[in-house]
Amino acid sequence: MGTDPPDSRIACFERLCRQRRLPLTPQRRAVLRFVVEREDHPTADQVCEAVRPQLPGISRASVYRVLDMLVRIGMLTKVCHPGSAVRFDPRVGRHHHLVCLQCERIIDVEDPRLNRVPLPDVRGRGFQINDYHIHFRGICAACLGKKNTRARTTRPVGRPRAGHRTGPTNRSR
Ligand SMILES: [Zn+2]
Ligand SMILES: [Zn+2]
Repeated sequence: MGTDPPDSRIACFERLCRQRRLPLTPQRRAVLRFVVEREDHPTADQVCEAVRPQLPGISRASVYRVLDMLVRIGMLTKVCHPGSAVRFDPRVGRHHHLVCLQCERIIDVEDPRLNRVPLPDVRGRGFQINDYHIHFRGICAACLGKKNTRARTTRPVGRPRAGHRTGPTNRSR
């Protein structure tokens, strides 16, 4: 679906670094590998936590710098959804997102029809549209599952109400 396996993405990154004479530091490689291997669009803080064991002493600021550099050279894109932290996406081609309102998980979604959305004519407002992506907000499968099990476990709580059914016996008097 247009996503290369992590190893070929890393190889592509190495090539790009050589072309641009950017030193291929272990930090850069570790940060990219982590984001490319994840499918849930991690935040910068999640990247920090994940690479720390491999890169002891790496500062938050340098992880942020590496992420910005990866975005600048086109290896990652930034995803911004209202009300949530910036997320990093290894898929730079056009695709869309399902955003879970409960756990903030972001799931990629592809549908050719979504790539043919007519753009509004906003030239009159002096705005130039460069790109768009659609995010559908809702509840992910994991959160829905949790909700259902919670509903099942809370059902017995409704039992006291069943006690009111002593009513009909009274009525049958
Ligand atoms: Zn969720
Ligand atoms: Zn994505």
